[in-house]
Amino acid sequence: MRLLLVEDDPMIGASVQRGLKQDGYSVDWVRDGVAAELALSNEVYELILLDLGLPRKSGLELLAGLRRKGISLPVLVITARDSVADRVKGLDAGADDYLVKPFDLDELSARVRALTRRKSGRATPVIEVGALSLDPAAHAVTLDGKPVALSRREFSLLHALMKQPGVPMSRARIEESLYGWNEEIESNAVEVYIHALRRKLGVDRIRNVRGVGYMVSEQ
Ligand code: CA
Repeated sequence: MRLLLVEDDPMIGASVQRGLKQDGYSVDWVRDGVAAELALSNEVYELILLDLGLPRKSGLELLAGLRRKGISLPVLVITARDSVADRVKGLDAGADDYLVKPFDLDELSARVRALTRRKSGRATPVIEVGALSLDPAAHAVTLDGKPVALSRREFSLLHALMKQPGVPMSRARIEESLYGWNEEIESNAVEVYIHALRRKLGVDRIRNVRGVGYMVSEQ
């Protein structure tokens, strides 16, 4: 089970990551709100552990943005801000649970278990655009019901495009969604993946809007 940890404090981040790894979770750790958004557009997580006071984009902004987009991923807020007003703000912004620092790692584990249990009753939504269907949890794509084998990056690109069918995505945005925070980007990488997707899914399935970007066609 994969979790995203968003925490800028190196000591707390390291201890939470270590503790949850011992519990068998795979934990991706990012240090600011923008990196968190990038990770969320690139990967599928079961839960977010979110600090509120973060560089570049605050935890509350991040959370409000997720909920505005209709992303219902469970969010456990971990923060030093223990005032009632901040708790209320966090919960209003869509947090599922709240833990005030300093906290006990056993309590954190128990709350993570409770939240992921609650979530497992729900199926991860499958995205459908025309004859194309993409299952983020199973990492599976079908076209007219037949499975299509895609590489990890091809899958991520298609996933990003299918989240907003008919809306062109710029090359810069595509690069952001495909690459992690310390990965090298080759100059023609996006074209290479678009070409591969067109070859596997049909040329008309992915349209180039000149000067704007690429989009999945709804027809
Ligand atoms: Ca912080």
